[in-house]
Amino acid sequence: MSIPASIQHLDNKSVIIVGGGWSGLACAVTLANRGIKVQLLESARQLGGRARRIQFKKFISGQSIDNGQHIMLGAYHSTLGLFKLLGIDEADILERQPLDLNLYSPCHCSIRLKAPVLPAPFHLIFALLSTQGLTLNERISAIKMSLKLAVNHYSLKQDLSVSELLKKHQQPAIVIQTLWEPLCLATMNTPIHHASAQVFLNTLKDSFSRNRKDSDLLFFKNNLSAIFSDPVLEFISQHEGQVNCAAKVIELNIRSSEKHLQSSEKPVYDFVITTPDTSYQSHTVVLATPPHISERLLHSMNNLSIVAKKSFLKPENASLNFNYEPIYTVYMQYPPSVKLPCKMVGFFDTIGQWAIDRSLCQQDGLIAMVISGPGKQTQMPHNQLADLIHQELKVCIPDLPQWLDFRIITEKRATFSCTVNIEQQRPLNSTIIPGLFLAGDYTNTHYPATLEGAIRSGINTAQLIINRNISK
Ligand SMILES: Cc1cc2nc3c(=O)[nH]c(=O)nc-3n(C[C@H](O)[C@H](O)[C@H](O)COP(=O)(O)OP(=O)(O)OC[C@H]3O[C@@H](n4cnc5c(N)ncnc54)[C@H](O)[C@@H]3O)c2cc1C
Repeated sequence: MSIPASIQHLDNKSVIIVGGGWSGLACAVTLANRGIKVQLLESARQLGGRARRIQFKKFISGQSIDNGQHIMLGAYHSTLGLFKLLGIDEADILERQPLDLNLYSPCHCSIRLKAPVLPAPFHLIFALLSTQGLTLNERISAIKMSLKLAVNHYSLKQDLSVSELLKKHQQPAIVIQTLWEPLCLATMNTPIHHASAQVFLNTLKDSFSRNRKDSDLLFFKNNLSAIFSDPVLEFISQHEGQVNCAAKVIELNIRSSEKHLQSSEKPVYDFVITTPDTSYQSHTVVLATPPHISERLLHSMNNLSIVAKKSFLKPENASLNFNYEPIYTVYMQYPPSVKLPCKMVGFFDTIGQWAIDRSLCQQDGLIAMVISGPGKQTQMPHNQLADLIHQELKVCIPDLPQWLDFRIITEKRATFSCTVNIEQQRPLNSTIIPGLFLAGDYTNTHYPATLEGAIRSGINTAQLIINRNISK
């Protein structure tokens, strides 16, 4: 390996953040806001990680789309709080819509679940009671299950799969197919047969049990980089931080700092972070990289005599070996007059799952179809998949004209697989090595892999660093 020519020694309180996804950015903003200088290193040419803009010169005249279509929920309070801290007015970037789900099928009548203006959880109960397309018995079974879950505070003695939970609550097949399965896939990106019921309940609790607005659907009015990473970059620069893109970290080294050798206080380490051009030295490092990269960097540490343990994670049984689930986003460009019947439409008995009308981002005629989790789409040639999605869209737009163009974005490792007992595996943000932290949607946030999970993780890590600085 070539040794970088220069080494930058950061001052004692500066923090190196490796990875500029939403968790790394949230950590950086929280630290910068408290006057702590950050040095952020991102391997890609742009910030944002999995939630970033992309541009194809030959698609919709080079306009920006997203690496994958994203939506948020009203319950994403940490993310909304961070937007506020950045000085972003929610109304400028998000279209808020009270819960109103419309699901279409080529072989079944459509389903509509619309929440009335009532306090939580009555809005959900009345939404279920008045669901169009389900029989009274089917609606009552869904209400019974929701009430039982609420009475038990959305908590399980022992984790099980979402499908086992639904079976335990005697949910009819059609209710599973049209309600629980789409909700589980949309929030956890993991098939119900092995998705963790406890994590699913955590998201239901946050969205349905507290405030009616927590179940609102929030749609972005612009691409994800314009929404978040661009303002973050500006914020960090204004707070004397540094951001380097195209700076892939290839090695992490650790040694006892002179301060440690001289005193009997808590150990302090110097971390040396190496990129192909430069090395950076600091007492505090946050690895906000995907778990398999963090694992590789942790194992690149050379001085194992300082940390003579095999695992650097807390708790001891935590691990960075996750399985992953894919997400496909099929962007279909039609003439500008083409519109979905509402901003977001769900589908069942189909390959496509949720279609979002990108006129929300002033991209008239552009529809983003999201396909979460494994399925036949992974084996299909892209032309064939686009044709199929076109046919499926006709269920809700009968006079749909021929598409003009399409792009399919496949993210094979879109999210970690949120399986039964996953909570026992997820590491904390602090490690056993003082000064070394982890951030990312996979850490122990009790949330599935989501923007909110990533933001919570980044903020929590920053808070740990701030508290540590105060107690020194
Ligand atoms: C297609 C798709 C659709 C999604 N839809 C939704 C949705 O609708 N709602 C929702 O809430 N969530 C959604 N998610 C999940 C959400 O995008 C993620 O949970 C979130 O972006 C994760 O952020 P992160 O910071 O934890 O990780 P990442 O975004 O993966 O960030 C890690 C960063 O580390 C960088 N990096 C890697 N190696 C190195 C290295 N050696 N040196 C320096 N940097 C490095 C990477 O380039 C990346 O920028 C979706 C994800 C995908 C992929």
